[in-house]
Amino acid sequence: MLYVVATPIGNLGDLSARALEILSACDLIAAEDTRRTQKLLTHFQIRKPLISYYEHNKASRGPLLLEKLRGGQTVALVSDAGTPGISDPGADLIRAAVAEGLPVSMAPGPVAGIMALVLSGLPTERFVFEGFIGTDRKSREEFAGMIASEKRTVIVYEAPHRLIKTLELLSGAAPGRQTAVCRELTKAHEEIRRGTPAELLAYFTEQEPRGEFVIVIEGAPREQTSAAAAPETVYQITEKIMKESEASGIPIKKSDALKEAAARLGISKNRAYALYEEIKKERS
Ligand code: SAM
Repeated sequence: MLYVVATPIGNLGDLSARALEILSACDLIAAEDTRRTQKLLTHFQIRKPLISYYEHNKASRGPLLLEKLRGGQTVALVSDAGTPGISDPGADLIRAAVAEGLPVSMAPGPVAGIMALVLSGLPTERFVFEGFIGTDRKSREEFAGMIASEKRTVIVYEAPHRLIKTLELLSGAAPGRQTAVCRELTKAHEEIRRGTPAELLAYFTEQEPRGEFVIVIEGAPREQTSAAAAPETVYQITEKIMKESEASGIPIKKSDALKEAAARLGISKNRAYALYEEIKKERS
């Protein structure tokens, strides 16, 4: 039997009684990071053989684990935190076991994205889980295009050092949409900040983002189908890019700063230019 076992995302009290039972009774534990899992097992006084199973060795470890399962062993699969297979390794092994007709079951438990969705206070009837949105320009542009017209609540995982960039993108592609930034869930410094992307951007520009984050974004209103960036945000981001480039000693032209701002916001350069000029005119 392959048991998928969810583990805590911060608070050890969230390991379920059933997860504990399975980890204590299995023959072998396949873990994303054996050292991290060993700490969890030591805390609960469990001694079991561990085998590492992660993104870069799953091709060779998968067949080995399937062999053990065919031989009748019970294998527990855990990731570093939360539910295996959710932005974590596991899905391939589960798929392969299912394809062979091997029995698969689960001790369900924490998923950061689901906890964030529930605490966001946003509609939960229909939602989209995007996981990490990617760091390259193409993935971010695709995401911006998708979110502008997505009517369901959207859940995104983000690293602390990319939070500002993603809030900038949302300020352009999903302005005015209620958003919740959920930080350090189940931990001592758990915090949920709610507001528009521009409000959250202002807050986290002052308050350096630290810890683990999930962003939950309200779906687009029924009638809205395309991006409508706030002129103020376009102006601020363009000015910020120009100031930063000046400070670094390599000043860039306004047109290049606008191009960069447009990319960050997920809108066209022409649109960014028009919105920038709108604010400039208002201020002059
Ligand atoms: N498998 C995990 C799950 O079930 O949620 C997700 C693993 S993924 C590699 C790690 C990301 O999940 C983090 O970068 C963060 O976006 C989110 N995350 C995990 N724990 C969190 C927590 N305690 N608070 C907020 N976000 C968390």
